[in-house]
Amino acid sequence: MNIQENHDLKSLNSFGLPARARYFCTLDDLGHTVRLRDWQAQHPELPLLFLGGGSNLLFVGDFPGLVVQVRLESLEILEGDSNYNYIRAGAGNNWHRFVRWTIDQGFAGLENLSLIPGTVGAAPMQNIGAYGVELKDCLQSVRAVDWRNGEVRDFSREDCRFGYRDSSFKSVEPDRWLILSVTFALPREPRWKTDYADLRELLEGKALNARVISEAVIALRRSKLPDPAQIGNAGSFFKNPMVSAEQWQTLKAANPAMPGWPQPDGGVKTSAGWLIDQCGWKGRREGDAGTYSKHALVLVNHGNATGAEVWRFAQGIIASVQERFGIRLEPEPRVIGG
Ligand SMILES: Cc1cc2nc3c(=O)[nH]c(=O)nc-3n(C[C@H](O)[C@H](O)[C@H](O)COP(=O)(O)OP(=O)(O)OC[C@H]3O[C@@H](n4cnc5c(N)ncnc54)[C@H](O)[C@@H]3O)c2cc1C
Repeated sequence: MNIQENHDLKSLNSFGLPARARYFCTLDDLGHTVRLRDWQAQHPELPLLFLGGGSNLLFVGDFPGLVVQVRLESLEILEGDSNYNYIRAGAGNNWHRFVRWTIDQGFAGLENLSLIPGTVGAAPMQNIGAYGVELKDCLQSVRAVDWRNGEVRDFSREDCRFGYRDSSFKSVEPDRWLILSVTFALPREPRWKTDYADLRELLEGKALNARVISEAVIALRRSKLPDPAQIGNAGSFFKNPMVSAEQWQTLKAANPAMPGWPQPDGGVKTSAGWLIDQCGWKGRREGDAGTYSKHALVLVNHGNATGAEVWRFAQGIIASVQERFGIRLEPEPRVIGG
């Protein structure tokens, strides 16, 4: 275990923002968690950040503590039952490569989540979702170490308290748990989710299987989202906001084209991208910070933006949407140092 000082994080965050970690190490051996906790106990003043692929982070400045990049890459097919195949994947596995590996094994369930950047261990943090499927739909349990006392615990799906882009790891006890692995329950008789209009259209006339759906999802994502290798970004920068049924009626009367999806709790989810577009931010640019030309919800770094510039740009969007619609947008990525 090699702890480095003043480590460059620019290539470790998908926004490509300049930032340095005061201390940095990679964790590729489970046994090293004990030594790492000992090291941290000797430096209690230093904050800690677990890092996966850095695709859901905005570094507004340098990180003044220890960044631990999780690279635990085990993969195990566990004993199945009549309904499910079970797979346990180490937290450091690349998410998309893992999804494709499950498909190569003949398993289904994760195909709609193809091409989401990042790692398996970060996926439960915000209950990643795309094209009508969320991680929680296929998750059996999460194994994590309590950083306070070193105890390992298995969390059931209910324990994780998943919500829309949320979990207890993200919002109830941030930075307490180091996720070591995730166990997936993949159904032996999959029910394909192809309700999204774009996906349905692309799949029309095709015999459905996990690989065909995965390919369609990949094609759609490539046509809509910027590749972080070409242009820095963290995917959708804002969550789709929820409004109460009353607020929705008022908003809809004033803005008949506003999209909305009724929720089980009676509220309505609306589109952050639409709200931002209406406020004239699509494709806008201030210095090297901007929104993507094809998708107002995606903030981008055109090359040399700093995290502070991207964050200031985001604040401008939040203020515009608040002023025009009375809705406060919430960032989806974790803002470090903002
Ligand atoms: C182009 C693009 C498209 C995207 N599309 C989607 C999408 O469709 N749906 C979606 O939900 N998200 C999407 N995202 C966001 C992102 O890919 C996911 O949130 C992903 O799960 C983040 O993984 P990561 O490994 O990069 O996490 P990081 O950015 O490294 O970390 C995110 C959070 O997880 C914590 N964390 C990471 N690993 C661990 C661990 N092992 N234990 C404890 N905490 C940990 C970090 O401390 C941080 O709080 C997109 C991002 C990009 C760039």
